[in-house]
Amino acid sequence: MNTTTLGAGPGAARAPVGDNKQGSLSDAERLDRAMTSFLRDFNTTSALYLEACVHCGQCAEACQYYVQTGDPKYTPIWKVEPIKQAYKRLTGPLAPLYRLFGLKKAVTIEELEQWQELLYDSCTLCGRCTLVCPMGIDIPSLVLAARHGMQEAGLVPDDLWGPTERARREGSPLGATKQVLKERIAWLTDDNNVTIPLDREQADILVTISSVEIMKYPQSITAMARVMNHIGASWTFRSDGYEATNFNMLSGDRTGQREATMRLINAALAINAKTVILPECGHAYQAFRWAGATMYGRPLPFRVVHISEYLAEELRAGRLSLKSDARSMTFHDPCQIARRGGVTEAPREIFRALGADLREMGPTPAGNWCCGGGGGVITIHRADSLRHRVFHLKMQQVEDTGAALLVSSCSNCRLTFDDGQDFFHWDKTAHSLVELVADNLAERH
Ligand code: SF4
Ligand code: SF4
Repeated sequence: MNTTTLGAGPGAARAPVGDNKQGSLSDAERLDRAMTSFLRDFNTTSALYLEACVHCGQCAEACQYYVQTGDPKYTPIWKVEPIKQAYKRLTGPLAPLYRLFGLKKAVTIEELEQWQELLYDSCTLCGRCTLVCPMGIDIPSLVLAARHGMQEAGLVPDDLWGPTERARREGSPLGATKQVLKERIAWLTDDNNVTIPLDREQADILVTISSVEIMKYPQSITAMARVMNHIGASWTFRSDGYEATNFNMLSGDRTGQREATMRLINAALAINAKTVILPECGHAYQAFRWAGATMYGRPLPFRVVHISEYLAEELRAGRLSLKSDARSMTFHDPCQIARRGGVTEAPREIFRALGADLREMGPTPAGNWCCGGGGGVITIHRADSLRHRVFHLKMQQVEDTGAALLVSSCSNCRLTFDDGQDFFHWDKTAHSLVELVADNLAERH
């Protein structure tokens, strides 16, 4: 049998390739691990969420998967049915009655295997469902809790588990190792005649990167350097803490999530950073801005900002000055940065400073449709046709603006747009906000 080595997976270290299971646990062991994890994650908040649902179905109309397929299995609250079933049957206030009268059946391994598609392939953690839920139920947080159980049971899609395991082994999900970073920075410095500080011992600001930028959009690294140098900031990249993308979080691997987070925290502490700047990566923002302190176990001793927030601050302070770029543009708000993170005004301040003709998508920014590639979905190839169906919604939203230029502030969204552009032979290319700023820096006199 074809096998692969799983350095950090659950259970034994070898598993068949291509069956979307990791480790060699028995079905009973997988089920036990998943249930134990589901129950461990039932804090008061998630219990309240599960009790609060009034089955109104409003979340369905907010989810791109339901909207584009009409299939009730894509109703957001249905995606967390296994943990709901486990909760009601095992720990909820009426659990003994549910068990006595068989009102909630025990979850089976077959159900968990079927749910893998709902928890991973068809949820980008975009949070659009939460926005419309009259009970304020945060479904993405429940999906993430369910993913913890799936990871512990070794039931993660192989396409997502591969980069996750690589991140734990090499420090980067896409092979952007320390050595690769150093080589990239050396050639970007030579080719672009720009100073890119790496491994300074002291700096006010630690700038982080996503592996997508290192491997696919290295021009973003040059752009960040040009902007930071223009501002005159005291900053550095660090080879011991650069990778902000946290695939472990997306898979449900809590230990790996913490390790990845701690690498950034330790690098920031080593240089006495006052600020950590997160790159154009939505899930990096989710993993570090909101979950960083939880992983650390206490408040972070520095502030954490997305690069668009930092640029807006510098504009206000007068240290960043831009030339005019009056082209018509539209902005794709990345779900984790805008809807989930609340950073909606900063990019618009930048467009105003450029004098751009900004044509907003409708609805935007909080109600913006997801690109369809978040939550790890872009890595799962069996989900491609479904992902392309939901991308069509996004494409239409962009087209309706009539803008000449499409801009975003997430490299994962950009990757999804590139893929969609290719698939649909679309004439729109997504551009990076930071690169747009770098291309329009005013001359210093
Ligand atoms: S988070 Fe987004 S993709 Fe997931 S269920 Fe909610 S609306 Fe659908
Ligand atoms: S919108 Fe909220 S209350 Fe209504 S079905 Fe969905 S999760 Fe339940």
